[in-house]
Amino acid sequence: MSPPLRYPLAAPDLSGNERAYVLECLETGWISSRGRFVPAFEEAVARLVGRRHAVATCNGTTALHLALLGLGVGPGDEVIVPSLTFVATANAVTYCGARPVFADVDPSTRCLSVESARRLLTARTRGLIGVDLYGHPCDVTGLEALAAERGLWLLEDAAEALGAEGAGRRVGSFGVASVLSFFGNKTVTTGEGGMVLTDDDDLAARLRLTRGQGQAPDRVYWFPTLGYNYRLTNVAAAIGLAQTERADRLVADRRRVAGWYASRLADADVVDLPGQAPGARSVYWLYSVLVRGGAARRDALARGLLAAGIETRPLFTPLHELPMYREHPTDGGCPVSRDLAARGLSLPTSSYLREEDVDEICGELTRLARS
Ligand SMILES: *Cc1c(COP(=O)(O)O)cnc(C)c1O
Repeated sequence: MSPPLRYPLAAPDLSGNERAYVLECLETGWISSRGRFVPAFEEAVARLVGRRHAVATCNGTTALHLALLGLGVGPGDEVIVPSLTFVATANAVTYCGARPVFADVDPSTRCLSVESARRLLTARTRGLIGVDLYGHPCDVTGLEALAAERGLWLLEDAAEALGAEGAGRRVGSFGVASVLSFFGNKTVTTGEGGMVLTDDDDLAARLRLTRGQGQAPDRVYWFPTLGYNYRLTNVAAAIGLAQTERADRLVADRRRVAGWYASRLADADVVDLPGQAPGARSVYWLYSVLVRGGAARRDALARGLLAAGIETRPLFTPLHELPMYREHPTDGGCPVSRDLAARGLSLPTSSYLREEDVDEICGELTRLARS
């Protein structure tokens, strides 16, 4: 039996209008995907990131799938994704019948390396998915330049980084479209939920059509195209609207927690801290350190922390190591992704953590690392 969890990895802060808005859904009976909160939530997020269109979906994975369908990805196509990301980034490509191809990441940002992506280009490459990993923006300038040079699209997987900025631009506004996730542990949450953001009017229309079973907007039970039911419920959107009202606050809280970690661990001599690229502002969705001494030491630290009620996570398993992706092309086996995955440890990063909580977590971490 493990002891009670005192510090979960990332728990939601639902202290705003969430309760009132959800009650409104119950009292008015609007609990499916119709109702005022879905368009209100879409507009609020579009405004927040500076995009023209926002299309809410039932989770971030369906948002990725919808975006790729909207971009016309299909069998025979290749899409370049970083090996170090959540599995949904690559799976959405696979759902389309296309092939994800695995590039390495930059060691300083942990995001898709432009040079590595360049080495994987073939005649079948259709686009790139830049992931804003753990809240740090991907290299938007480099990736957009590569995409433009080769006639490819850039899709931004911003699932972990709402509120971050890269090259003076808000995450969620990079490339032809961006995808968000509102899973329960994300900085802004709806429990389960996702969204596609774009400035392209035609793409937005295709996304809305495909999200709603492909039913024509002006003719009931007429389906001009194969669609899906990827809609978000009004109840989830109600939570999302309340969260979005406080998004700046939730992001600022996360950055403050990261600042406390950085000041306490900078001289601890046991871990390497996450960096920020010039011009980038991370949201530190998770504060992820690299344990000096490798995987065995990292795993021992994680066990010790859990015994003290402190939940941690390793970084993602590089996707090209998973059974279903083992035969897919990689850039030389993605050594940077593998190194980061072996040493990475994400620490509790809930936005409600106080300074004394971070003190305690860091105290336990350094104590364990020295023992
Ligand atoms: C959370 C996440 C998603 C989407 O996940 P859902 O659980 O389906 O909302 C996609 N990509 C990345 C990088 C993520 O972290």
